[in-house]
Amino acid sequence: MRKQKDQRADATRCVHSGEERHGQAAPLTTPITQAAVFVVPGVEGLRRYAAGDRELYLYSRYGNPTVAAAEQKIAELEGAEAAVVTSSGMAAETVAALVACQAGDEIVSMLDVYGGTVKLFEQVLARCGIKTRFIPHHDIANAARYFSRKTRMLFLETPTNPTLRCVDLAALSRLGHEHKACVVVDNTFATPVLQKPLALGADIVMHSATKYLGGHSDLTAGVLAGSQKWMEAARQMMILTGSCLDPGCAYLLLRGLKTLQVRVERACRNATQIAEALRRHPKVAHVYYPGLPDHEAHELARRQMKDFGMMVSFDIRGGGRAAERFIDQLKLWYLATSLGGVESTVSYPVLSSHIGLSAKQLQLLGVSPATIRLSVGIEDAADLIADLEQALTHA
Ligand code: PLP
Repeated sequence: MRKQKDQRADATRCVHSGEERHGQAAPLTTPITQAAVFVVPGVEGLRRYAAGDRELYLYSRYGNPTVAAAEQKIAELEGAEAAVVTSSGMAAETVAALVACQAGDEIVSMLDVYGGTVKLFEQVLARCGIKTRFIPHHDIANAARYFSRKTRMLFLETPTNPTLRCVDLAALSRLGHEHKACVVVDNTFATPVLQKPLALGADIVMHSATKYLGGHSDLTAGVLAGSQKWMEAARQMMILTGSCLDPGCAYLLLRGLKTLQVRVERACRNATQIAEALRRHPKVAHVYYPGLPDHEAHELARRQMKDFGMMVSFDIRGGGRAAERFIDQLKLWYLATSLGGVESTVSYPVLSSHIGLSAKQLQLLGVSPATIRLSVGIEDAADLIADLEQALTHA
């Protein structure tokens, strides 16, 4: 017997969800509908569209069949009623914040979120009269103190960059709802294959689809997923802020998503072996990986995630100088400031994602010049470990 759509496993959803295959000569893959404008089937069509019929397309900024297929696939993977795809992860965050908040409202956010998110809240939303209160990780147990009667959004990210700290999504979602906040979770590092924030109580899940969802370092996109009500509001905001995704890019995203489950499974396996090899190495002072039993959130990650993720960070002995020598000695791991591709990459937080932060800010985030972040790809684990070891020898 064929499985009902919503009972399918993620590996099946990745390949089949959202793909419409009917009619004569139906392609097996969803084609790129390279059009900005669509023909309306008569005035009645205009009436149907105005009444909310989204089977019709008018204009690609509002909706496009290739983009809609990507939205449907991600919605099913996140267990959401609907999804809205945007031109970047930052666009998705902007849309979410503008949907949840208006001038005079407040956001409560973890301090350990992506640096661009902190800047968006402090430099852009603050100018629109939306204030953010940031919770440092060491005070997460006192998160309730950061809410006020004006709080409308709680913004969370787990695991975090680069130290892979985790927060309890179910507990924090409950807290957010007690304060009538919309709970938004940046699920970029975990992907829906490993973690489903909506099932844990969040209202909206957000991604930089540039990372694992695309998976091949060749597109920039973002996504929001949640209830029909939130996504209807998000779609209107996406349309009015012009943050739509191009259909060609949506095609690449669809193609990337088909292998998401297998890429994640393979990269998690590699990451576990790499974390263990680094932990044994005399030149490594500390390894940050939620899969290691001594990681501060090992038990939480085990409960909340299906596996421990594809990112591994570590502190090298010898400080900043050793870190720089190590990175420049790598042959297989490319120095790149992004993550989530099939290629394994290394990044140096103090000179990229965390550049310009004071020593005190870095200390709060647990980052130092010795900290190196690895985005583990799908190559052979032994090759990846051999390259790390030879670079450590020369560091
Ligand atoms: N969220 C996280 C966790 C990220 O790592 C990034 C980008 O690095 C973003 C959001 C922003 O996404 P984008 O670069 O697609 O705008």
